[in-house]
Amino acid sequence: MKSGRQRRAEIKLRRTARRAAVAARAQRAPAKPPERRVVVNPENLRPTNSYGSPRFVERGYYVDLPFTCKACGVPQVWTAAQQKWWYESAKADVWTTAARCRPCRIRERNRKAAAHKVHLDGLAKKAGQRSMRAKGEASRPETRR
Ligand SMILES: [Zn+2]
Repeated sequence: MKSGRQRRAEIKLRRTARRAAVAARAQRAPAKPPERRVVVNPENLRPTNSYGSPRFVERGYYVDLPFTCKACGVPQVWTAAQQKWWYESAKADVWTTAARCRPCRIRERNRKAAAHKVHLDGLAKKAGQRSMRAKGEASRPETRR
């Protein structure tokens, strides 16, 4: 059986070990950078017919928002300054948020432009065929039945 003094010594030893471990863990954990805030100017926002208002409007400032790119799955941060530009300068809908990283956004933009060009080319081709057919009908001899 241990004496009271022995037990106290053991407890003290355990406590110092635990304190050291906690301190080491605190040092190892990267210090979270201070939240960067950018003030919202609600007058610059695009009007919305919604009953509610977005979180950043209620809060009064933008904060950096982490998100995962929906195309490549890479974690990203949508900075407060980028949000201010998006909502107040680009006048984007206040309920939209970042979905893709910059390279994926550019890729998606090019893909859409290419698809739109194919669409327009198709329409032009169709219109050309239609006008050709109209001309063909006009020049058709009347004797034909
Ligand atoms: Zn991406």
